[in-house]
Amino acid sequence: MVGKEFILNSQQLEEAVNNFVHDFCIQRHIQESMPVLTQSDESQLKTIEKIGIPAKGRPVEEVVKEMEQEVFRYCGDNNHPRFFGFVPGPASCVSWLGDIMTSAYNIHAGGSKLAPTVNCVEQQVIRWLADLAGFGKKAGGIFVSGGSMGNITALTAARDKKLNEDTLHLGTAYISDQTHSSVAKGLRVIGIASSRIRCVSTDDSFRMNVAELEEMVRKDIEAGYIPFAVIGTAGTTNTGTIDPLNEIADICKKYEMWFHVDGAIGGSVLLSEKYRGLLDGVERADSLSWDAHKWLFQTYGCAAVIVKDVTDLYNSFHVSPEYLKDVQADDGYPNMFDIGIELTRPARGLKLWMTLQVLGTELLGSAVEQGFKQAKWAEAAVEEKENWEIVAPAQLAMLNFRFAPNDLTEEQKDALNERISERLNESGYAAMFTTVLRGKTVLRLCAIHPETTKDDIQTTINMLDEYAREEYAKLK
Ligand SMILES: *Cc1c(COP(=O)(O)O)cnc(C)c1O
Repeated sequence: MVGKEFILNSQQLEEAVNNFVHDFCIQRHIQESMPVLTQSDESQLKTIEKIGIPAKGRPVEEVVKEMEQEVFRYCGDNNHPRFFGFVPGPASCVSWLGDIMTSAYNIHAGGSKLAPTVNCVEQQVIRWLADLAGFGKKAGGIFVSGGSMGNITALTAARDKKLNEDTLHLGTAYISDQTHSSVAKGLRVIGIASSRIRCVSTDDSFRMNVAELEEMVRKDIEAGYIPFAVIGTAGTTNTGTIDPLNEIADICKKYEMWFHVDGAIGGSVLLSEKYRGLLDGVERADSLSWDAHKWLFQTYGCAAVIVKDVTDLYNSFHVSPEYLKDVQADDGYPNMFDIGIELTRPARGLKLWMTLQVLGTELLGSAVEQGFKQAKWAEAAVEEKENWEIVAPAQLAMLNFRFAPNDLTEEQKDALNERISERLNESGYAAMFTTVLRGKTVLRLCAIHPETTKDDIQTTINMLDEYAREEYAKLK
């Protein structure tokens, strides 16, 4: 007999939960004084390997403490206001509360029958996002684990709309040299060979060259291929660039191709009245992926994929096996298992709904605008310094720049900028990494944490400049 305590020992659990929440909140309060990156060394991994998997269980309180001290402590804090690497994950505490509640209730959000209210909430949020994108009445979508899954889901619908079993091998898709790697990966997953994925070059602002796109499409048609999808990006990962969405939409219309917009980061710009116009043309796309765990301040993994005509998702994903017969929806909302890849899935949209309820759309909109401001502050601070070069100006919340004194070779500059990033990360004050633009190693700042201050930015740039000068002096 396993006994009642297999699922819940309420008193012990309550204590463990309370203690954890207490510790966690204290840690959040002092977050800014904590190092941004706490590097784990090999000995820490050895400690974990040594813990092993026990045959007999241990008290929950002890395990909770151990997780805090041995595991979570050693993770880079990408929730930190001075974490400027990758795309940070400044999750709202309302989102983590929503996450805790969602997993506490452990709702099977695969279909509407078991969880009609949950499904309704998720669909209301999807509706709101679709309206922001100007997608119209037939639009629909689903919450998935991230932008990568959003891209795969949308591109599957594109494939099935434009190609069939006999023509699949002829289908060609178009990305740019700045498109996120998850797009080509997703295309390969859905059966589009690498040799059928065309990479269009970008202009000086890292926007897709539309003339070149059209030329490639024409040549492919002449050669007997079937161009079926173009992927534009609203907010590239490197530079925050928005592709010329209207021009791409024109080409897609002319050649009857599916237009997918990867808005993993940039979708959130639609929340800002001031900047929403930057995404003009997105309403002409057939599908849009939009990470909520980036610039909508959600905990991982939460992203939406929205399709102009939800029937296209249904056509690709609907299933009706005998064991799902009893759970077919009859409330007018689609079953998630009919419009996406997963069957059992957590209700990822609830935490976003909760965040919207508590914070409201206006505050979220200004939180997004704050990111624009921060990148501009950084740009102004870099421009004040000598021997620094802005490689891609502030766009969205991103800035790319490098220390580039004239008397150094390109190789020296690359190495120097890598070293500058390392030194900042070692300092614990802030974190920033490098990327490569047109062959140059550059520092890349992505500043979407709404609580980052002007002083945080100024001090970070001052520190970079100081490291740059010290490292430069060593080369003399
Ligand atoms: C982050 C990102 C992705 C991938 O999203 P995940 O949530 O990490 O899967 C896709 N496209 C762009 C433009 C991104 O910035």
